[in-house]
Amino acid sequence: MARYTGATCRLCRREGMKLFLKGDRCFTEKCAFARRSYAPGQHGQSRKKISNYGTQLREKQKARRIYGVLESQFRTYYEKADKLRGITGENLLMLLELRLDNVAYRLGYGNSRTEARQLVTHGHFLVNGKKVDIPSYKVSVNDVITVCENSKAKEKFKVFAENPKTLPKWLQANPENFEGKVVAEPAREDIDVPVNETLIVELYSK
Ligand code: SF4
Repeated sequence: MARYTGATCRLCRREGMKLFLKGDRCFTEKCAFARRSYAPGQHGQSRKKISNYGTQLREKQKARRIYGVLESQFRTYYEKADKLRGITGENLLMLLELRLDNVAYRLGYGNSRTEARQLVTHGHFLVNGKKVDIPSYKVSVNDVITVCENSKAKEKFKVFAENPKTLPKWLQANPENFEGKVVAEPAREDIDVPVNETLIVELYSK
């Protein structure tokens, strides 16, 4: 369960946009990208012409960083997406959306995917009644995600339940019971990540 442990805000500056990786802080004046909206490093402010390959690479890196996935795992997602029926790029985003840490985040447990991931690894969730602490666990249609009985009393979870998020169409939630359900596979129009998946497919199909 390897994960990126370097400076988080640096990733937004590298991608030239806010990726909202730090939850509430991203909406404050402390946001590093708001203060320094250029790439990190000595040559961060110099203008560079970006090649086609560079554009594709940046798109892939952006998607990886949003979902908190390392390179080898991302490529595995691509290979799986390529084998599925339908449009590879859309399949790729669907697989990423169905990760348990992302589903927990979408259900409102965590102000960022990083926080949701930590809640998963700390064993706060059950999938269909069984404890699952693997952030990359792929949920399926009709799976029910609940908060463990012991965790429901925790202040953090009470706050999440009292402030429900707007859900994408493919999820349903019952915040009072700390319960969420996957009712469909996520369609592209229901995935609000600022990624052009076609460029990622072009990169990997070279
Ligand atoms: Fe990105 Fe959030 Fe850091 Fe701003 S505060 S640079 S949006 S991770």
